[in-house]
Amino acid sequence: MPPQGVALLGSTGSIGTTALRVLSRHRERFAVRAMTAHGNAALLREQVAAWKPDFVALVEGDGDAPASWRRGANALLEAARLPNVDVVLNAIVGAAGLDATLAALEAGKRVALANKESLVVGGALVDAAARRGGGRVVPVDSEHSAILQCLGGRSAADVRRLVITASGGPFREWPAERVRAASVRDALNHPTWSMGRKITVDSATLANKALEVIEAHFLFGVGYDQIDVVVHPQSIVHSMVEFRDGSVLAQLGVPSMELPILYALSHPERLEDAGIPVFDALAAARLTFEPVRHDTFPCLQLGVSAGRAGGAAPAVFNGANEQAVALFLEGRVAFGAIADGISAALDRHAGLAGGDLEALWHADAVARRTVRETLGC
Ligand code: NAD
Ligand code: MG
Repeated sequence: MPPQGVALLGSTGSIGTTALRVLSRHRERFAVRAMTAHGNAALLREQVAAWKPDFVALVEGDGDAPASWRRGANALLEAARLPNVDVVLNAIVGAAGLDATLAALEAGKRVALANKESLVVGGALVDAAARRGGGRVVPVDSEHSAILQCLGGRSAADVRRLVITASGGPFREWPAERVRAASVRDALNHPTWSMGRKITVDSATLANKALEVIEAHFLFGVGYDQIDVVVHPQSIVHSMVEFRDGSVLAQLGVPSMELPILYALSHPERLEDAGIPVFDALAAARLTFEPVRHDTFPCLQLGVSAGRAGGAAPAVFNGANEQAVALFLEGRVAFGAIADGISAALDRHAGLAGGDLEALWHADAVARRTVRETLGC
């Protein structure tokens, strides 16, 4: 069998570089045909030299990129539709990944989706694009990979409840007042996962779990009343499915994205891979679970309420979060202001209709503006 063509969108990021590590062990099975990055031309250059893809795109930055490289956001759509590509691994961060997800699905590709914001902002449009084009989304997010594996092909009708686990982030045990004043350095110091800056802050606020609840709703067709979140500080149990008869299946592994990335590429097949970190129950020793402290981490409930409201509310939540996190990372607002900004944006715009892409980008833009106004930036 010839290797399957892979387009790696966001090759220079945390997921992108981890994916290349996984792909390097499966060269007979997958060939990297396209790579895209936002602005890190130096790393992209190294990756291109090592992987020799046919198609390379650098969305912004660095004027002296090779002439053969595509430039601008439209190049992401081109990469997603290439005829010699079977799998699009979308490892872009933020709502900027949505258009490429839609383009890939409309072109009938498998989308190995790390870019959870695609489903949060445009879940209904993503479903429709997959139906129209014959594409399919397979999650990379470890929680959703766990759920997919536990489901084993069973439908939502057999599911009583999904239980998504959360590490609790670096502030799990901090008192509320200390959390509100946490520094950028504190927020980037994640106890169990090493990831890009934006998702690391989302893990500290628990906004990431809200994104994941909405993602699970769209991926698995399960209602919000049937999705729970529990804190599991060791990040070994990646999530659980409770079936209608009360049986609960969980998927376990060390906190590494290599297995979820590999599984998103190979599902439903399982590939031999001696490079995947091995799980040792005795080394893990203790697995504990505790409730979410919603008063200290309001972003989770804000996001879930946006999911329930539907329409453009999840896009408002996501846009507000992206803007507030960017301001926090620039050192312009306090950690606690992230939730304040999101809350203000949802108060103003949660009723917006979702309908089409234009409506969703409008919701995203007004949410970002409201956050800047509310936080005085
Ligand atoms: P990252 O910041 O490390 O990398 C992001 C990548 O996207 C980079 O290659 C960057 O060049 C590219 N990019 C950024 N903005 C872009 C834009 N506007 N247009 C095109 N490309 C752009 O992020 P990450 O941690 O790798 O996360 C990527 C996605 O995967 C996010 O949606 C995140 O929530 C999700 N995810 C990440 C992890 C993890 O372990 N890092 C786990 C689960 C899910
Ligand atoms: Mg996750």
